[in-house]
Amino acid sequence: MPQKIALLGSTGSIGTQALDVISRYPDKFKVDLLTGCNNIELLTLQARKFLPDSVVICNKEHYKQLKDNLKGTKIKVFAGAKEMEQAVALSDADVVLAAIVGYSGLRPTIAAINAGKKIALANKETLVVAGEIITVLAARSGSTIIPVDSEHSAIFQCLTGEDNKAIEKITLTASGGPFLKISADKLQHVKPGDALKHPNWNMGDKVTIDSASLMNKGLEVIEAKWLFGLDPEQIKVIIHPQSIIHSFVHFNDGSVKAQLGIPDMRMPILYALSYPSRYLSDLPRLEFKDHNNLTFEEPDHKRFRNLSLAFVALKEGGNMPCILNAANEMAVNAFLKGIVGFMQMPDIVEYALENSEFTATPDLESLEESDREARIIAQNFIDKLQHII
Ligand code: MG
Repeated sequence: MPQKIALLGSTGSIGTQALDVISRYPDKFKVDLLTGCNNIELLTLQARKFLPDSVVICNKEHYKQLKDNLKGTKIKVFAGAKEMEQAVALSDADVVLAAIVGYSGLRPTIAAINAGKKIALANKETLVVAGEIITVLAARSGSTIIPVDSEHSAIFQCLTGEDNKAIEKITLTASGGPFLKISADKLQHVKPGDALKHPNWNMGDKVTIDSASLMNKGLEVIEAKWLFGLDPEQIKVIIHPQSIIHSFVHFNDGSVKAQLGIPDMRMPILYALSYPSRYLSDLPRLEFKDHNNLTFEEPDHKRFRNLSLAFVALKEGGNMPCILNAANEMAVNAFLKGIVGFMQMPDIVEYALENSEFTATPDLESLEESDREARIIAQNFIDKLQHII
């Protein structure tokens, strides 16, 4: 029997790559649910190709159009954020691939966890914002979380068959993005188009900007804490511009394990879907002779302050990572629209961290409140900021 898959965020970068993977294994995977938000053309094409049981469009305005587009099929069509949560919880899916970008991925992922589904987690914000709550809910429902993020997939693969108590530390690799060698002066004036040119990975806009500003790595540090039960001091970051080694685990006997591969998100997606098995694939192979210069350097916290801010938020805990994430989403949006400069993004995040109300043990409702408050504080700061672009 093929494994049934619910794909949340099917029209995004991870979603489309996941469907590429799924289409290669018709006897192993069957799409049960697809969800999207605004791209109804693509969602329609995907639904007609993969014939899921149901499709959900979160933006209700597109409901009628989508329903019309899928006339003549047996596919059930729903619309709205609440309806998406219900559809996930009630679906027959064995595995839910959570690939919605940003804070809006939180609620549907929680619905899937509460339903005890196996989760292939691509939405890092879920663990950044609500890591402690998610960990408790997953333990309660028996839901397993398999990371899709390439670095965390690497750590997860290195830890298979190991005892997490034997971890001394982990090192997450970071490509450093397109601005690795650019001076702080020049960084002030880089344009969204420059930041969107990632040297190695094919990702959506939000993740690509986060990658250029190292906020992506900051969010991944927080994600790693919750996935693997680590202390902040046990998580290190190293710049590895070639993106061949996806991360390292250092064990307490002095041994180090790493996972390698060419940078292609389809590989960690396939692993998360096939786990605990490995499926034969025709994805490109790593040839060592083509990569004879793998390099490593310390990240520059002065030019890329976001990484330090993420460690601050992680160490302070409570709702601080939620505030960090909300302010960053506002900052990235403003940068993509050309309203603020690249180096102003960390200023916005820092301001929100310093000016939002701290809660030590937030529940989901208070996290929603923190998210809202941090967005308002960040927006007020953006409005007052003297823009450098
Ligand atoms: Mg990553």
